[in-house]
Amino acid sequence: MECDLKKRIEKDDFGADVFTLDRMEKRLGRDEFEALCATLNEGKPLEFSVAEAVARAMMDWALERGATQYTHWFLPLTGSTAEKRTGFLELDGISGRPLASFSGKSLIKGEADGSSLPSGGLRATFEARGYTTWDCTSPAFIKRDSAGRGCLCIPTAFCSFDGAALDAKTPLLRSMEALNRQALRVLRHLGDKTTRKVLPTVGGEQEYFLIDKKHFLMRKDLIYTGRTLFGSAPAKGQELSDQYYAATPQRVLKFMHELNERLRLMGVPCKTEHNEVAPSQYELAPLFESANLAVDHNQLTMEMMRRVADEQGLTCLLHEKPFKNVNGSGKHNNWSLLTDGGINLLKPGKDEQSSRRFLTFLIAIIAAVDEYASALRMSCATIGNEHRLGGNEAPPQIISVFLGEALQNELEQFCSGSSLPIHHKERMSIGVSTMAELFRDDDDRNRTSPFAFTGNKFEFRMVGSSQSLGLPNTVLNTIAAESLKRIADALEGGEQLSSVLASMYREHERVIFNGNNYAAEWLEEAKRRGLPLVDNTVDAIKSLGEERILELFASHGVMSRQEILAQEEIALQNYVTAGKIEAGTMLRIVRRSILPACVGYCERLANSLRLLEQVGVEDRSQRIMLTRLSGEMSKCLSAADELEDALRRFDCSAESMRDHLKPRMEDLREAVDRLECMIDKGLWPLPSYGEILFSVT
Ligand code: ADP
Ligand code: MG
Repeated sequence: MECDLKKRIEKDDFGADVFTLDRMEKRLGRDEFEALCATLNEGKPLEFSVAEAVARAMMDWALERGATQYTHWFLPLTGSTAEKRTGFLELDGISGRPLASFSGKSLIKGEADGSSLPSGGLRATFEARGYTTWDCTSPAFIKRDSAGRGCLCIPTAFCSFDGAALDAKTPLLRSMEALNRQALRVLRHLGDKTTRKVLPTVGGEQEYFLIDKKHFLMRKDLIYTGRTLFGSAPAKGQELSDQYYAATPQRVLKFMHELNERLRLMGVPCKTEHNEVAPSQYELAPLFESANLAVDHNQLTMEMMRRVADEQGLTCLLHEKPFKNVNGSGKHNNWSLLTDGGINLLKPGKDEQSSRRFLTFLIAIIAAVDEYASALRMSCATIGNEHRLGGNEAPPQIISVFLGEALQNELEQFCSGSSLPIHHKERMSIGVSTMAELFRDDDDRNRTSPFAFTGNKFEFRMVGSSQSLGLPNTVLNTIAAESLKRIADALEGGEQLSSVLASMYREHERVIFNGNNYAAEWLEEAKRRGLPLVDNTVDAIKSLGEERILELFASHGVMSRQEILAQEEIALQNYVTAGKIEAGTMLRIVRRSILPACVGYCERLANSLRLLEQVGVEDRSQRIMLTRLSGEMSKCLSAADELEDALRRFDCSAESMRDHLKPRMEDLREAVDRLECMIDKGLWPLPSYGEILFSVT
């Protein structure tokens, strides 16, 4: 039994639905396979004849695995994935007989109309053709529906007629190339002659809520906006921390098991799962992979979470803040740099050479984060994440770097001219002789930092749970590339490594903060240090248009000015549109469900009062209840009228959404939440927070 299970984990079906390099090798001729490897490893253009052979092999494999359709699978700027399925079926021109066919041309280039996908003005609808081109660095895979029927998915980039990026993948791939170029330059200066490639690696920890589908279907706010727009706090929330790391409920275990099985087939490596802080909140952490694959796999993970939950009578909420006053969900983006020789460039050094290398990359990243904090902040600026950042449950909106005292001391000493720090792990004792000796981890468990060094990688903790990991990693790769470029330029100009690093560190050490980022004093301290505080989504998005940000992305060939401005426009548009949907949903729920329910309760109280009067009983309590209820209903009605009025006068700018509509929405919510606590539970039209959050057992 044990042996069988071991076998199962180690091979069996892991990645059975992925057209891996091994599988390609088996099905392609030697020359064809070598030409493909040259494309993959050295970026050589893919020859047409090779694409033909790959397409044929891919189709044969997909048909053997039961997939009769294919799709170019891409990441448009909506933040989710897009696909348009096409059958392998063709008809023979002469005989009209059905044939299975898939050409190299169809593999490399798809034409997706997709004119309704956001383009930020990069293409007009009358010339709306978008093109999809195969990203051969992310293998094709089969995605199955609930009945097990499969469709071959070909990961692709999505661009406009003149090649402008319309997706999250193209800039990411470009940023990986930029980072590779600059990291290799630096490594050469450090005496490394063998490394041929440096790859950013990413492990994205995904938080989510699982609720009963019957509750979801009873709430139009969840259905339309992904979050509850009303709901008063239940008597018990997360105060006791009794959900965190607790035993997972049976229904959720069943969900996790099925999810792992599905992802396993698609080669998505899930590693750990646990209960998160909020009731009904969970987390999944995958093994890390190349940034490109990790971004695709996180997208697949989210899709499968939704699908499996739905199949099991549950609903998976990926919104950053589904419930007010309950911890929201994020996506910790663990990021590091790996060479083709297997060296993690952010692993502390064990000898002089590796220590020098580690410090070089570490200081480059500290400098990058300080210099381009606004770009990092922007990469997480969405309407959903706005509710989460700075709420003492997620990092504040000020970007700082956590290093830990020990590492910071080492850096200080190095930059003051002492020798290179060589890393030794500290022993720790827990005072029980029968227990194994432990070594203290290098990473402090400071959970409040937005950007923490955690032993051999950085963890960027601001990313929202529903976001694609594409943009945050594009930014990380690009700002790291810029810092490394400056180091390489200085070294080429004849400067000494130690003095380049020391001056870079001195210039940017203000961004390092090892204390409690949630404390009020940190805000004051950060202001004293001159760190930028961008406390709202709209300003954060608008930093994209800053000249130095435009220059940064353009100079590394990651995004042209036009592409960045398009991204900015789309992000602002998303903010406005999502806000308008929320406002409209609130008004409908209030006018059509909440107020009528309150009227029903008023009627009951009034009838009861009349009956009491008839039998000659003097009752003050119900009269007070009725008067109070009627007062609160008036407040609710005026708040709804004010919101409706603001919506009518709305000029559709992101600033007015932030400054005029959102405060009205908050007022209306407060009025409704007060009413919820005043009327008969049986009459309230929405399932309560208590019911939703504590019913999946
Ligand atoms: P914690 O909850 O303490 O952050 P976890 O073990 O839950 O730790 O998550 C760690 C995450 O970091 C995993 O997703 C893992 O894949 C990722 N990770 C580990 N090493 C690297 C690395 N070198 N590069 C990128 N991600 C990494
Ligand atoms: Mg983490």
